[in-house]
Amino acid sequence: MTARQCASCTLCCKVLGIAALEKPIGAWCPHCRPGAGCAIYDDRPRECRGFICGWLRDERLGEEWYPKKSKIVLTYEQDRFVAHVDPGAPGAWKEEPYFSALHRMMLANLPAGKPVYVAIGRQHILLLPDRQQDLGLLDESDEVELAAVERPAGREYRVTIHRGVRAARPAP
Ligand code: SF4
Ligand code: SF4
Repeated sequence: MTARQCASCTLCCKVLGIAALEKPIGAWCPHCRPGAGCAIYDDRPRECRGFICGWLRDERLGEEWYPKKSKIVLTYEQDRFVAHVDPGAPGAWKEEPYFSALHRMMLANLPAGKPVYVAIGRQHILLLPDRQQDLGLLDESDEVELAAVERPAGREYRVTIHRGVRAARPAP
């Protein structure tokens, strides 16, 4: 953890889904006062209490990654990284310095089995060394299987989606 503070950022209250509130991904939580905070702070669900975004936890990410500025909430999960993009600025991840930084994050972590996704609402895009693969709309229960195939020209990745097979993810 770092000494960083959320201050007037409330973007995670928009981009993330909150199961306890049946709050969908990509829509403002009805309890959020954007730019001000949570109207039910003392009674907010456990998912909210435990949440720490990537920018708060990782001081290697510069100030340009402050979610209110970048329009991207990074989550570091057990088996993946996700760049949750504000649906109001869906192209933010393609801008610099974000695109290059996400690409470097993918190159550094994919060989160890931790892929990097971009999520714009339920639309998920998987970053791969040779492409950005649009996976369409995914739910929490969908599992993405990645298989590395060694070719003379180098390693390729095959992607298979298994629908409805996954248990709920722990909060990042
Ligand atoms: S996205 Fe990060 S900085 Fe912004 S409110 Fe959520 S936890 Fe705080
Ligand atoms: S309950 Fe509060 S902390 Fe949780 S998503 Fe809603 S506004 Fe944010």
